[in-house]
Amino acid sequence: MRDQKLDRAKIAIIGAGQSALSCAAYLARAGAKVDLYEKQERAGGLCINETPFKRVGSDAIVSSVASYYGMLRQEVIDELELYKHGLQPYLSNPIEIVLLDNDQYVFTPREAPDQDESVPRVKIDGLDDKQIEGWQAFWTDIQKAASIIYPLYFDSTTTQKRVKEVLIDHNLPKIADAIFDKSLEQLLDQYLSNPAYKAVAATCTPGFANLVGSVFGCIHHGTASTLEIFGAWGQVRGGMGQVTQAMQRSAEAHGARVHPGKAVKKIQIQNGRVEAVLFEDGQRLDAADFDYVLASQDIYNLFENLIGFDEMPGDIKDYLSANRPSVSAAKLHFLLSEMPVFKTLAAIKHNHKGVIVMAPSMESVRKDSQAVPKGSMPLELMLTMAFPHLDDETLSRDVVLTVDVHYLPARLEGGRKWTDDDDKALQQAVLQRISQQCPEIGALVRDCYVVSPNALAGRFAVASTSCWHMPMTPAFLFEKRALPGCAPYQTPYANLYTIGSGNYPAGNVTGCTGRNAASLIMEKLQK
Ligand SMILES: Cc1cc2nc3c(=O)[nH]c(=O)nc-3n(C[C@H](O)[C@H](O)[C@H](O)COP(=O)(O)OP(=O)(O)OC[C@H]3O[C@@H](n4cnc5c(N)ncnc54)[C@H](O)[C@@H]3O)c2cc1C
Repeated sequence: MRDQKLDRAKIAIIGAGQSALSCAAYLARAGAKVDLYEKQERAGGLCINETPFKRVGSDAIVSSVASYYGMLRQEVIDELELYKHGLQPYLSNPIEIVLLDNDQYVFTPREAPDQDESVPRVKIDGLDDKQIEGWQAFWTDIQKAASIIYPLYFDSTTTQKRVKEVLIDHNLPKIADAIFDKSLEQLLDQYLSNPAYKAVAATCTPGFANLVGSVFGCIHHGTASTLEIFGAWGQVRGGMGQVTQAMQRSAEAHGARVHPGKAVKKIQIQNGRVEAVLFEDGQRLDAADFDYVLASQDIYNLFENLIGFDEMPGDIKDYLSANRPSVSAAKLHFLLSEMPVFKTLAAIKHNHKGVIVMAPSMESVRKDSQAVPKGSMPLELMLTMAFPHLDDETLSRDVVLTVDVHYLPARLEGGRKWTDDDDKALQQAVLQRISQQCPEIGALVRDCYVVSPNALAGRFAVASTSCWHMPMTPAFLFEKRALPGCAPYQTPYANLYTIGSGNYPAGNVTGCTGRNAASLIMEKLQK
């Protein structure tokens, strides 16, 4: 819907990841002149496809960082016409299996259609009906909470207090009590006692399940939806980069322009406003060239690199130094000479499709929650794996195993930054962990592409190295997912906004931050 006032507005966006592209698409539709300046040679940010194995003669396409689909909001898909612009999500069958020690396993507790009922959905030692009922009641409550919180993501005035009230109104007192104040482990204690079930649930939250904040993480993941099946995580034909490519086409169809290879070097501030944007290649934008500057990178990159320490207000300096994320994650893509066989999967004739998770024990999670933020590598890696080419032949004729390492230190012992040698050590540690399922995995590796905190802080320009630019713990949720003293998306500077996924409501490829930020800018321009 074009708007006369927006017709004259000039918006400069720094970066062209999913937050920036979705925001650009909304603003361009409303008539604004939108230019996106992206430091990489292509748009996409953390949601991008690459072909990293050309050096060994393989054209295999990988979803380099974000590889699982589901968090993208249906409203964004519909309003930006992303299906028309090429987005094709799909669900694997089965969707997800979590593997435990001693050939125990549990298929995903989240909703899954067309399940093969000939294979038992769970194999855990010593289960009884009471535990199974507790498990089902737990997931019913989590998914109900997810459906209640889901619409609040578009209302950036929502506070943690309001979330609790809404949960109580919907008869979810246990969730309301735990969501910001207890751990997932403590919440689970109210439903069941089986340690294997707890270890499985621990893989369904992005943080450590024994720490406060993990309940929200679990609910947040429950807001996923694929092909309008609520709770279901899926994948995208052609790789996750197709999400940002569809967003880019949608934005460009309404006149937005993406300028790749345009790294911003400095944002010049004067009298509380952005006066100029300077690029690495020597070009500059002056105040007459933009009404608003929207920065989509994480706030550490924005303030420390582009604005600079001397320019920053004291409260922002304090905020950045007090809250630097200590936990990160990694994605590794292994090019294999042949399809490996995982012993637990082979035993149940599983097709190796969908998501395969290796769950550490709760005891390991507890120990790692203390050691990892201090710089130690996890004792037992929590891995999420997939062979995307099994469902999508457009990606590769070769075998590619994509592996997420759930939690890793953002910096290593003594505050040391990650190096290429640390990447090699991580690769070996991952293979060693997978060898518990497939002893010959190491011998099958032709090449490996590692995206660790090393690459996140480097070429992907996420200075915080957090997967969501900022953690998703209570200190950074709802009214607290904003800069100190600022409303959501605002900065201390009148014409500068922050729109990356470290902002309200949360991280992941949601399109939500971009949509909310675009509404705010439209409101400002209309006034
Ligand atoms: C290991 C890992 C796995 C993940 N897996 C998933 C997953 O499976 N599913 C999911 O939904 N989410 C996943 N996420 C989270 C998700 O990828 C992010 O939350 C989301 O993609 C961030 O999008 P964004 O647009 O906000 O930021 P970004 O993608 O970081 O975009 C910021 C853009 O700004 C550009 N930029 C930075 N500095 C400059 C500069 N100076 N000048 C110009 N441009 C600049 C960057 O190049 C980038 O393109 C994962 C994250 C990580 C780290």
